[in-house]
Amino acid sequence: MLAIHDTIAGFREALDASRRQGLTVGLVPTMGYLHAGHGSLMAAAAEQTDVAAATIFVNPLQFAPSEDLSDYPRDLDRDLALAERHGVAHVLVPSVEEMYPTPVLSQVSVSGITERFEGAHRPEHFGGVATVVTKIFSLTGPCHAYFGEKDYQQLAMVRRLVADLSMPVKVVGCPIVRGVDGLALSSRNVYLTDAQRGAAPLLHRSLLEAQTMAEQEGVTVKAVEAVVADAVSAEPEAVLDYGALVDADSLEPAAAVGRSQRLLVCVRFGSTRLLDNIAIASPH
Ligand code: AMP
Repeated sequence: MLAIHDTIAGFREALDASRRQGLTVGLVPTMGYLHAGHGSLMAAAAEQTDVAAATIFVNPLQFAPSEDLSDYPRDLDRDLALAERHGVAHVLVPSVEEMYPTPVLSQVSVSGITERFEGAHRPEHFGGVATVVTKIFSLTGPCHAYFGEKDYQQLAMVRRLVADLSMPVKVVGCPIVRGVDGLALSSRNVYLTDAQRGAAPLLHRSLLEAQTMAEQEGVTVKAVEAVVADAVSAEPEAVLDYGALVDADSLEPAAAVGRSQRLLVCVRFGSTRLLDNIAIASPH
């Protein structure tokens, strides 16, 4: 049975009571409009911990005034059914007023890792994410927290935040869930026109090609990144925001193709930005 909480106090009390009984808590923070990607995080939390909990909150702090906050897709009934189906026991669905006293005077920021890529394109974004994640961790208490590799820079930032501030949270990264054509599932895919949706699988296709190229001896960073850039420039509907080979932990740009790297990509279709990434592990 899924318990639905609209207050921070109710959610916190339920999870405190579970921990007092010696049970572990698994947490999945989301913005709702849930799909099988979110479902995979919930299933992992339900399998690996005793009590799976989730939050559904479209966080205004992580949207710039020009971004899609008011049109962000929502379907709470469907979300609650999906969460229950994936073994979630407690869900927090707070109002904006419940989450943030006005004005918001305290915010959290993580430097370095947030400055390039998404941070460069969306200057307010990671401060808003770091603040809401800190708040959600604080109101949940000690837990395992499940995040998708789909938002790779966000995952890297959350790992660093937890380590730097000694939060009682074990961060668990989960693989990207894709549609049959390879497109990473995202709540924002509903914004794509039919033509854009038809072209969008080029992200994953070009990442796979780049991954194969990275295994060749002597290949350069430029050549690996060019596989993605060339595929995007051949598609009239698509514009490349970035396609960059980076260290998998620090997200510093790679000087040479090597082990433990990640190729990060963001492609714009009209005003919709799609993110994807892939592990790169050159054997050379
Ligand atoms: P969001 O609701 O977009 O804020 O996403 C909530 C969580 O679900 C984040 O940790 C995302 O990385 C994760 N997530 C979103 N899409 C996917 C996907 N296709 N596969 C795996 N995790 C995902």
